[in-house]
Amino acid sequence: MTSSEQSGPGPEGSFRDSLGIVSQEGKRRWLFPKAPSGRFHRARIAMSALLLLILFGIPFIKIGNHPFFLFNFLQRKLILFGTVFGPHDFYLVGLSVITGIIFIILFTVVFGRLFCGWICPQTVFMEMVFRKIDYFVEGDHREQARLRASSWNGKKLFRKSVKYAIYAAVSFLIANTLLAYVVGIDELGKLVSEPPANNIGLFTAVVGFSVVFYWIFSWFREQACILVCPYGRLQGVLLDRNSIVIAYDHVRGEPRGKLRRDQVRQEGDCIDCHQCVDVCPTGIDIRNGTQLECVNCTACIDACDTIMDGIKKPRGLIRYASANGITQGAGFRWTARVIGYTAVLAVLIAVLTILLIRRTPLDVTVLRTPGMMFQELPDDRISNVYDLKVLNKMFNDVPVTLRLLEPAGEVEIVGGPLVAPSQGVMQSKVLVVLPQDGIRRMSTPITIGIFADTVLIQRIATTFLGPVKHKKDADHEHEGGHE
Ligand code: SF4
Ligand code: SF4
Repeated sequence: MTSSEQSGPGPEGSFRDSLGIVSQEGKRRWLFPKAPSGRFHRARIAMSALLLLILFGIPFIKIGNHPFFLFNFLQRKLILFGTVFGPHDFYLVGLSVITGIIFIILFTVVFGRLFCGWICPQTVFMEMVFRKIDYFVEGDHREQARLRASSWNGKKLFRKSVKYAIYAAVSFLIANTLLAYVVGIDELGKLVSEPPANNIGLFTAVVGFSVVFYWIFSWFREQACILVCPYGRLQGVLLDRNSIVIAYDHVRGEPRGKLRRDQVRQEGDCIDCHQCVDVCPTGIDIRNGTQLECVNCTACIDACDTIMDGIKKPRGLIRYASANGITQGAGFRWTARVIGYTAVLAVLIAVLTILLIRRTPLDVTVLRTPGMMFQELPDDRISNVYDLKVLNKMFNDVPVTLRLLEPAGEVEIVGGPLVAPSQGVMQSKVLVVLPQDGIRRMSTPITIGIFADTVLIQRIATTFLGPVKHKKDADHEHEGGHE
């Protein structure tokens, strides 16, 4: 969709073919957005505070002395909500990723870049942490621009030093937190308390990530969203005229014109005050329509609402709305695309839920040992040999016992008690012994119960091979035994 389709025509020539952060000479245009304020901004501050609390707090949460979340891909260990997932759960991770992608697509088709403005870590850190540091240390947007343009003096040196020192400290904190998600808070504690030489790998990772974050937030800034973020690039194919985005109501606002005293106003509601542009952290004019740089930060909504309040016009000249909502007053519509994505998403969520519910902490397989038939034991008993394999997904070692649930018989372990090691695999041979009397056919169905400690965790249905003795033969043998 072109910007003109999305927002309708603005003044002739207002649509551009260049980036807002690049000057006519092709150089980087540093942005100094005006500090936002208003109801959306207050809501975003609350949301960001909650997200930051969660981000920095989660590494400290443990369940049974194990992390609540851990993303240790180097050791192929993933812990989500206290549940450990290993390489054997790759199918679940893969399915979760596909479900997540479909969810993002559906969410974007309906709600545009809502995620960018409210949840994306880049936006949260850039606008709610680092940009706030700018305002705190260097003053408002005009002062920041003046300071940058001024020659170096004591004041500039002091302010820049303080600002970048805080940047470095926050970047270091972020790097440490992210590392805690990878190695766990205990390992990170060792890194902090021991000399760096003892953990040179982790120390290098922390320093490296700190430098990367410092570079992103001090220099790269909004370019991460505009030039790098793949999600931003997808907007062109995901959004349509029914997607809800932050949009300028050109029907109501145009033709725009300055507000003049004692003049009967013939123009639309936009008084061309430029406030929506001044607050934009990506340097665009939302009146030109939906643009790839827009991260849906809501700053322009607040700025325009303040102006509308001042000139006694209804709020919402810039608001969350779809192109059809603005031109036709249409509400949300279940389009074929939305229905299709919703159906696919529902199926994926259902499959994922079933797989997660059916997931057991121990994966057990019992297979009759290939090439072995049966053995006849004294006392008219028959045995079969089985290969037992137990994959323990838990953090603790688990004693495993086996019992024959059906029919009556015994299970004998070859080589003593079984213990499935934490996060490991245990293999053993087991003997199933049935009395000859109980064997009515060549292949007898049996059910073996697998017990972790004393809790039955799985029933394994398999078969037992044994010779079928007809009653006559048995009677004959019995009589023979008495002769
Ligand atoms: S803030 Fe509102 S009134 Fe002012 S230029 Fe932007 S859209 Fe027009
Ligand atoms: S256009 Fe509005 S919502 Fe989009 S980035 Fe700029 S200020 Fe934020």
